[in-house]
Amino acid sequence: MRPLKAYINLSALTFNLQLVKKIAKNSKVMAVLKANAYGHGLVQSVKAIKSADGIAILTIEEAIKIRGAGFKNTILLLEGLFTAEDIYEAEKLELNLVVHNEQQIEYLNDATLKNPINVHLKINTGMNRLGFPPDQIDYLIENLNVNPNVSGITLMTHFATADEKEGIAKQLACFNRITNNYNFSSSVANSAALYKFPEARLDWVRPGIMLYGASPFEDISAKKMDVKPVMSLISKIIAIQNIKKGQAVGYGNNYIAKKDMRIGIVACGYGDGYPRHAKTGTPVFVHHKNTTTVGRVSMDMLYVDISNIADAKIGSKVEMWGNHISVDEVAKNSGTVGYELLCNISASSRVPMEYLDG
Ligand SMILES: *Cc1c(COP(=O)(O)O)cnc(C)c1O
Repeated sequence: MRPLKAYINLSALTFNLQLVKKIAKNSKVMAVLKANAYGHGLVQSVKAIKSADGIAILTIEEAIKIRGAGFKNTILLLEGLFTAEDIYEAEKLELNLVVHNEQQIEYLNDATLKNPINVHLKINTGMNRLGFPPDQIDYLIENLNVNPNVSGITLMTHFATADEKEGIAKQLACFNRITNNYNFSSSVANSAALYKFPEARLDWVRPGIMLYGASPFEDISAKKMDVKPVMSLISKIIAIQNIKKGQAVGYGNNYIAKKDMRIGIVACGYGDGYPRHAKTGTPVFVHHKNTTTVGRVSMDMLYVDISNIADAKIGSKVEMWGNHISVDEVAKNSGTVGYELLCNISASSRVPMEYLDG
């Protein structure tokens, strides 16, 4: 077997949930476990966060697994129904549904349910992805209020720039203008908003990335936020090359050595989910020491500078990210975000996962 593995520290996941709960105070916590729990494994993650008030995912199939894992609290389908038949599955599994388009309103009108369903009416306050325009909300609420298939309404929206300078003021004001007329529960905050803007916590918060120990912010590190990394991507050196000044490393002769160097060849590449666009100089932890990558990442391998790690040898351990290297740092050096890198690990389906403290 290749030496590459993703270790998932489930007690760190539990720790991060407790931290979110402390920050969120009286708000209920809807843990976002979409995309296979951001690449960490859905069912195992459910077990580590079973004290969450709710779990948000996309599909009926995921909801079946979550109920199968024994989770009895709220489950929310973040994109609501994809087909008319799904509503009966949702009823059986006692799911909550986001309602964000006219077709889903029709599904709700046309069904005959024995047990009505809680809906989260999504308002488009400026992100322009999902949700109804503000001027339709009064009419829709009137409609849902008398729909026998609807047992309760939560009003929700999603922020486009909670992690950026713009913040949430404009979208939140738009949301509040509508919702102040009603007494429904409400939900707006992703990780960035719940961390930075107390006024956005409301009845439910919806943290994702924070739970996995990464940061949604460019300028606030996960460490600063006090969250613990959950995933460690670990491999080993499988070859060593001693190269002379002026020699190149890897495809495209993308890196030319400025001095004589010792290069470690590591069993991890873009075929595993490590970003191909990671620049020379991306941090990596090799055999107890911080160093950097050099050259262009290959499908199955990447290259690390071990010139100053004299005792590194074939078989030495390499951490691409985890307790020493933040996934956010690797993302920054690759022109992407930690979210994508974490998701890619399980999407590649080539990296075995090992669960710790499960
Ligand atoms: C993914 C998602 C979240 C979680 O966002 P994070 O930035 O990971 O905290 C919250 N709400 C909705 C609607 C989402 O799609």
